[in-house]
Amino acid sequence: MSDNQDMTLTIPENSLLLDGAWRAAADGQQLPVLDPAAQAPFHVAARAQAADVDAAVAAGQRAFADWSRRSPSERGAILGRWAQLIYANVEDLARLEAQDVGKPLNDARRNIYIAASILEYFAGAADKLVGATLPARENDHFGFTLRQPLGVCALIIAWNVPAVLMMADAAPALAAGNAVVLKPSEFAPMSPLGIAALAKEAGLPDGLLNVLPGFGNEVGVPLTSHPGISHISFVGSTTTGRAIMRSAAEHLTPVKLELGGKSPNIVFADADLELAVETIVESITENSGQNCYAGSRLLIEQPVYDEVVERVAARMREQRMGAWHEDLDLGPLINQGQYDRVTGYLDIARAEGARLVAGGLDGAPDGLYVAPTLYDRVTPDMRIAREEVFGPVVAAESFTNAAEAVERVNSSPYGLLVAVWTNDLSRAVTVSREVVSGQVSVNEFANAFIIGFPFNLAKESGFSKGGGYEALKEFTREKAVTMALRADI
Ligand code: NDP
Repeated sequence: MSDNQDMTLTIPENSLLLDGAWRAAADGQQLPVLDPAAQAPFHVAARAQAADVDAAVAAGQRAFADWSRRSPSERGAILGRWAQLIYANVEDLARLEAQDVGKPLNDARRNIYIAASILEYFAGAADKLVGATLPARENDHFGFTLRQPLGVCALIIAWNVPAVLMMADAAPALAAGNAVVLKPSEFAPMSPLGIAALAKEAGLPDGLLNVLPGFGNEVGVPLTSHPGISHISFVGSTTTGRAIMRSAAEHLTPVKLELGGKSPNIVFADADLELAVETIVESITENSGQNCYAGSRLLIEQPVYDEVVERVAARMREQRMGAWHEDLDLGPLINQGQYDRVTGYLDIARAEGARLVAGGLDGAPDGLYVAPTLYDRVTPDMRIAREEVFGPVVAAESFTNAAEAVERVNSSPYGLLVAVWTNDLSRAVTVSREVVSGQVSVNEFANAFIIGFPFNLAKESGFSKGGGYEALKEFTREKAVTMALRADI
């Protein structure tokens, strides 16, 4: 089945990773893993069920008892070795992620490097997590805080950038002394399984990181409602995020949600248009627009509106599409469901009266491909301007001044990332201040390369302390300790 036989990193077929061992699912069910370009399976994973969740949580609890008491430096050293193994196996891991998601090999390679660098960051941060000494009203009291790990953390992630999403939560959770049960998407479990295989080699104790590929209703629901789970991190759609919160309410489990987006590029007339156009196109073609922060909305100041639309369309038409191993600019969408969703939005945009300037299905290869697509004459009330398409589709609107641009941005239900293109420093700062979003980029788009960058979110994009040092705190309980002092000096 697997055409990855020349890889040194092997993932056994029909397996999940539980308590440090590759095993079949409790009831033996299997999960074919598809290559989106070939539209054929290239691996068969195990399809985990509720019984596997019970076993994984129990394994996590056993492992937690020891891991949570190890010195932070020792934990950091093991995580550091794991990061080095990921760097050493970057080609195999990139290949797994590229074939699984359908993205160009070079993009997958970059994703694996980011995953390894996140782990490296938290390996180094493990022994820098400190509590506080508290001021007391009287000298006969002393107070301090302890930061302690929570227990077994559930991680449920989307399929689009599995290695990065896995590491963004697994690394701080483990560094802080927790155990993890990870459910990757059933569409893309391969790079998480490969990365977890390396954890064992690095010396991560058995049971600390369990990976259960499977479906939301079969693994996700039992995991998020499990009484043995102490924290839930979820990365996925806003709709599922709401379901997760309801599930978490059952046992009042703390939850962190990283959800959808509709991120705008705001282009002012004074911007460096050449740089802006190139980056705007990259922001929607990377991963075929299947990124939470994809630049799917384009707000252009009136005087340069026609020019920017024309230049973005021209650059989009130059993009080359192909299978992961051809390593071109963008690949197919991940599966038929995604293809139907994205092409459904092309129909919606047409019916709403937006004008197709570039892309659509014309010129796209056979299969699950959609060409980079630009609509203009979009108004803020249209669904194509408000809803997350999760494909390579941009909706362009014009604006006349900064206040109007900010108002348009803030009318979005989402609040993930806003990119501002201007050479006017005051305007860059003012707009950054006024927009409601977790992140702002000025004269660039997204900041995944900035180490320790807080991945913040607003409105229906969720809430999270992710990305930076604060993420370590997310996976700890702060305990306040007070002491009465009896002795006089
Ligand atoms: P989904 O919300 O459909 O699924 C996300 C994960 O949740 C999957 O593993 C899924 O399993 C699982 N799941 C589904 N239903 C439940 C449930 N009731 N209980 C527990 N788990 C469940 O999102 P997609 O995988 O389609 O990913 C795309 C979305 O993810 C987009 O909206 C995108 O913006 C968002 N995203 C957000 C990021 C961020 O950092 N803000 C980063 C990356 C993506 P299954 O696959 O079986 O349904």
